[in-house]
Amino acid sequence: MSNDKIDYLPFWKETCIALKKTTQEFLYNTWFSRISYVQSLPGKLVLAVPSQFVYDNVTKLFSDDITASMHSLCGEDIAIQFIISKETEQAAHPSSSARAVEAPSDDERLEKARRAANINSDYQFSNFVSGDNCIYALNASLAIAKNPGISYNPCLIYGGVGLGKTHLINAIGNYILEHQKDLKVQYITAEAFTNEFIESIGSAGSGKAQQFKNKFRKVDVLLMDDIQFIQQKTQTQEELFHTFNELYEAKKQIVFTCDRPINELKGVMDRLTNRFERGLNVDLQPPAYETRVAILRNKCKMQNKQVDADIIDYIAQNVRSNVRDLEASLTKLISYSELLGQELTMEKAKELLSTMPFFKPQEKEQGISIQAINKVVCTYFNVNTSDMKSKKKNKSLVQPRQIAMYLAKELTTYSFTEIGSEFGGRDHTTIMHAYDRIQSLCNVNPDMRNIVAKLKKEIMEQH
Ligand code: ADP
Ligand code: MG
Repeated sequence: MSNDKIDYLPFWKETCIALKKTTQEFLYNTWFSRISYVQSLPGKLVLAVPSQFVYDNVTKLFSDDITASMHSLCGEDIAIQFIISKETEQAAHPSSSARAVEAPSDDERLEKARRAANINSDYQFSNFVSGDNCIYALNASLAIAKNPGISYNPCLIYGGVGLGKTHLINAIGNYILEHQKDLKVQYITAEAFTNEFIESIGSAGSGKAQQFKNKFRKVDVLLMDDIQFIQQKTQTQEELFHTFNELYEAKKQIVFTCDRPINELKGVMDRLTNRFERGLNVDLQPPAYETRVAILRNKCKMQNKQVDADIIDYIAQNVRSNVRDLEASLTKLISYSELLGQELTMEKAKELLSTMPFFKPQEKEQGISIQAINKVVCTYFNVNTSDMKSKKKNKSLVQPRQIAMYLAKELTTYSFTEIGSEFGGRDHTTIMHAYDRIQSLCNVNPDMRNIVAKLKKEIMEQH
């Protein structure tokens, strides 16, 4: 059979129709619709996708289905090859061409809209690396961005620090501003919302209260980051409750982020937590090794920087906390080699990384026990180890205990919940609080930083 007689295009078209019926709409629109037909070769169908990012998702989600469908339509095994090619995105699917035509190219308008919406243009879907840890949150965010107010409303994205909540919620905003210029988008942190609210009630008669209400109740998409901030702030909660109801009834899209699941918020009125829990709740987990490597590579590519694969691997192996820490590690190494104009060696990378607070060399991590940590901390502060578990609140005990909790999180793989149970059955939020407190103290207080570094070193040496 010569090449020019082979034409799998009709089968490919059939496959598109078949998969459209069997695939969830948002997955189809987000990923499948971006595949285009390129050519037919003997026994091989060549398809194109516009980027590596789309490639990763498309192959993960659809490779098997496409292969199976082509096999049943052609009666033989057809290999599927994907190529990455920007130009082809609009070719095969009218819906994606329509999208591209709709997309405005007016940079100025977009820039202005972003400023008004308080959206950070650095955070896009195109530079968010997908992995098992975040695929649900990413897909939900994409679906919301494509159909605000319809797909998942409200939506809550929750997860620990540095895992991409702010990135995703901004990516939703960026996407909507680019594709639906008539929609009014507003991003705000819960902290800024609280501050603006306080300001609005503090200047009675100035029209500020109404301005404030209009700002948040007259939008099509409200993106509120870090709602844990409103804990214990009853008046802000009351205001947010009314804002929520008004938007929700008008079928406007609301997306929240939070650093913990809603049921772990303290001091938030039930009727508000009920609202948060409505709709879709999706979580972000720390990325696994492969995703960490992909994130680091992506970051190098975006900045057009070359870093040895071994060094990337070393960072990915040893920085497991979150994406922010991964980025900070890479930035430190890159800036070192740029500022000194020196090539980055593995030896230097190891040395530089060992000073980063979140750096956990794998070989040392295993087996450090909380008892060993407590022993070193208690000896240093001259307190009894039994007091680590006690409920006593004397000042002389509280801080050593918090430092031990902090070190337990830093030097072991125990979760906050597990550490809580080791410290006399305390709630995991107590450990989170201790961790945050010691970390902030380390940031501002050199004495605390030194003590923590000294204890850490001693514990690691004893291990
Ligand atoms: P959070 O709001 O959850 O604390 P951020 O959204 O601020 O976290 O993310 C911290 C940093 O990590 C940001 O620079 C963000 O761009 C980056 N980041 C997080 N997740 C990813 C990801 N999956 N792919 C690429 N970059 C990511
Ligand atoms: Mg954030």
